[in-house]
Amino acid sequence: MSDKRLVYLDNNATTQVAPEVVEAMLPCLTKHWGNPSSAYDLANAPARMIETARSQVALLIGTEPRNIIFTGCGTESNNTAIQSALYCNPTKRHVITTAVEHSANIKLCHQLEKRGYEVTFLPVDLDGGIDLCDLQAAIRPDTGIVSIMWANNETGVLFPVEELAAICRSHGVLFHTDAVQAAGKLPIDVQKLGVDFLSLSAHKLRAPKGIGLLYVKPNTPFQPYIIGGGQERGQRGGTENVANIVAFGKAAELALEHIDEENTRVRSLRNKLEQGILQTIRGSVRNGGGEPRLPNTTNIGFDGVEAEAILLLLDREGICASSGSACTTGSIEPSHVLQAMGVPLLRSKGSLRFSFGLDNTEADVNRVLEKLPAIVARLRDASPEALSQAEERLANTG
Ligand SMILES: *Cc1c(COP(=O)(O)O)cnc(C)c1O
Repeated sequence: MSDKRLVYLDNNATTQVAPEVVEAMLPCLTKHWGNPSSAYDLANAPARMIETARSQVALLIGTEPRNIIFTGCGTESNNTAIQSALYCNPTKRHVITTAVEHSANIKLCHQLEKRGYEVTFLPVDLDGGIDLCDLQAAIRPDTGIVSIMWANNETGVLFPVEELAAICRSHGVLFHTDAVQAAGKLPIDVQKLGVDFLSLSAHKLRAPKGIGLLYVKPNTPFQPYIIGGGQERGQRGGTENVANIVAFGKAAELALEHIDEENTRVRSLRNKLEQGILQTIRGSVRNGGGEPRLPNTTNIGFDGVEAEAILLLLDREGICASSGSACTTGSIEPSHVLQAMGVPLLRSKGSLRFSFGLDNTEADVNRVLEKLPAIVARLRDASPEALSQAEERLANTG
């Protein structure tokens, strides 16, 4: 890797923890290390700090603190919402989701199918969009829950969550949204959205990994997923991760302060990179519609090149991006999201995601625009051996 500053354009995978967040959580590790459930004075500060954090995250999504359950991650929040709905309505054996959800949903739904549930995976069009009529048509008397993400992590495409939730409400079906990628980038008002459940994850929001939340609308039947002590008002067992909860609270406060910047400065950086690539690199195509879309994400296919090879050469230049592909046992699987959109296989295998964050600058965009055209040209000219060597190295590094 070069000795230049790292250009990190993979903020949809995780974000660097903000210095203010580190500062806020440190006292929980040093001074206020008591168990918040204990009866003595040492427990008071951590217990209070959790409630402050709960107010901060509640403000981010426009609800009361009592409607927030802290969880171990976004994955747990998604799992909890879906399994709770099914547990509380045992006669309902049908679930609706989409073909482009995070694996937290897709894999859970595949497991539900093995357990005898029926799952409808709603299709998307080439722009990554969803047809409201498909949801209308899919809802059945035995539908227990509809779970549809707000913002796609691979393409940034937004689904019309408010309309989707309204359709579910009119049929009396519970609705959950995975809003992990929306947080900090879009204003969130759970009441206006009309959702029953909403998931967030802190590490996509400049806080540490391993902490998430689930919003549960008041009076919604709820069954805990993690059974244990009476933490989180009996809704999620396990001693609270106080430091991470406090970090989440601080990150939520910062996210509210920076939401305009995400939609102005960060959006224009993304646009500059996207337009620069599409204009200078032949055979490059954006995957997914232009709007409505997250302000920080672009996904671009490069015909005739393996995404993993581009990523390897970008990494040597100190540039981090990602492919939607999952690397399983050395074979490179094309992204299920791009496949569902009908992106041709060869293009989806040559597709990269660039996702910006608040730490990115104009210089980052310029570095990519300086390096990427030559990398793509080089790979297109390269002998098949060079490509397979790159793939082999990648397989060896997992
Ligand atoms: C990252 C992500 C998740 C999972 O969150 P974790 O906290 O890493 O479990 C779920 N959904 C989407 C859309 C994500 O981007």
